[in-house]
Amino acid sequence: MELIKERIEVIKHGNDSGSFIAYWTSNTLRANNNYSLKFASEIALEKNLPLKIFFYHNESHYNCIDRHTIVLLSGLIELVHELNYFGHELEFVNTIDGLEGLNLTDCHTIIIDKTYTKRSNDYTLELLKNYDTNIISIDNLYLPAKLISNKQEYSAATFRRKYYKTTSSLIDLTFDISRELSKVKRIKSVENTKEKILKALANLKDKFIETVNLNKNGAYTSKENLNVFLIENLSNYEENSSKPEFEFVSKLSKDLHYGFISPAYIIKELILRKLDFSSSFIEQLLIRRELSFNYTLNNKNYNNVNGLPDWSLKTLNDHSSDEREYVYNFSDFEDAKTHDEYWNAAQNEMLRSGYMHGYMRMYWGKKILEWSDSFKEAHSIALKLNNKYQLDGRSPNGYVGVSWCYGLHDRGWKEREVFGKIRYMNKNGLDRKFDMQRYVDRVGKL
Ligand SMILES: Cc1cc2nc3c(=O)[nH]c(=O)nc-3n(C[C@H](O)[C@H](O)[C@H](O)COP(=O)(O)OP(=O)(O)OC[C@H]3O[C@@H](n4cnc5c(N)ncnc54)[C@H](O)[C@@H]3O)c2cc1C
Repeated sequence: MELIKERIEVIKHGNDSGSFIAYWTSNTLRANNNYSLKFASEIALEKNLPLKIFFYHNESHYNCIDRHTIVLLSGLIELVHELNYFGHELEFVNTIDGLEGLNLTDCHTIIIDKTYTKRSNDYTLELLKNYDTNIISIDNLYLPAKLISNKQEYSAATFRRKYYKTTSSLIDLTFDISRELSKVKRIKSVENTKEKILKALANLKDKFIETVNLNKNGAYTSKENLNVFLIENLSNYEENSSKPEFEFVSKLSKDLHYGFISPAYIIKELILRKLDFSSSFIEQLLIRRELSFNYTLNNKNYNNVNGLPDWSLKTLNDHSSDEREYVYNFSDFEDAKTHDEYWNAAQNEMLRSGYMHGYMRMYWGKKILEWSDSFKEAHSIALKLNNKYQLDGRSPNGYVGVSWCYGLHDRGWKEREVFGKIRYMNKNGLDRKFDMQRYVDRVGKL
């Protein structure tokens, strides 16, 4: 228990009665390295009650296109297999079953995964409000954001200092769920979960994605993805990960977003393989990623321009009436119909694969700012596209990534038209640094 004490947040005290413990899995779709499941198992053992593990599926809540649901549901199938391996089942509660499908009336304690976006959090608590059960949320970040800082951090530098000062005793790199989970009594599901999920998957398809196997996702697949990265690309990461013409990156952002894999597991693999892991990969995985959670936790306007730092709002407002050389609307951007073939290639990479190379994301976001009527509209367009098409979108990283293009976690630069003091990027810079034709050709093959 000691290990996860700092990860616990008691949301509600119930009447402390009930005949089972429940774990509602939502953003941590794996069995191993899952602190929520570990905690739920420990309570079930302590109270000698069986454990129900379930996923609540409500498509209309996600309000997203099929690509996201395909990834989610296929990941759930791998979770079913993983839980079966430990002698447990996953209950799949589909929204068509209505709220009664939750069957939580006689639940003693319900464990939920902590979420860092208000929409998910409010939604979960709204669904649970009529149940008189204990509700506990568990944080599955590498280090819970509230422990590092209780305020919005100004930059990666200020966050990094605090991050490395925070104790690492909260992380158990040898963490294995099998001991607890195999001892816990299970609740047998009356339905065949896998069949139910496959049925929900049956008619889903994405009109753009052809070359990526959207159906191959989950805890097992993400470990394979990590393996490929460690063997083939890690040694090149430090020097070449920023080059969009290559793919010397992990592409683990989707797996991290859905919780198919945990950062702790990735770090453990780096250590076990005695790899000379590059500091820049750790910087991205721990500092940059968890800085995003610090932002969404501490800034209620994380999803709009009002969350931006004062200096950037001021400079953008000062330049709001500057003439724009090009102005595009949402559909022009969405259909990749700008005058710039590099920008269009980036947009197409996202449309056709659900992923865009990290360096191109910065260029992509900056150009939407440059070519929109106003910076407010630009921010909203970028966020909409990012959340709609990136498989790692709708996450703290997505909100922060877009806002970074508008000065968040950055500093002022030389003042110029439209951007004011916001950092600028241009096409010549891409040509100078990278083999952009190779990037355009790579995307052309998707
Ligand atoms: C406009 C814009 C939008 C973005 N939208 C998203 C998004 O929706 N979802 C998302 O996960 N990231 C987003 N990012 C951040 C970053 O570009 C991606 O995390 C990264 O490119 C994912 O690719 P990868 O997994 O191959 O990264 P790798 O380079 O292999 O890095 C490993 C992991 O570190 C984390 N990471 C890497 N770069 C960053 C970063 N700059 N900030 C925070 N975490 C990082 C990711 O979890 C990533 O999977 C965005 C950045 C920008 C500028």
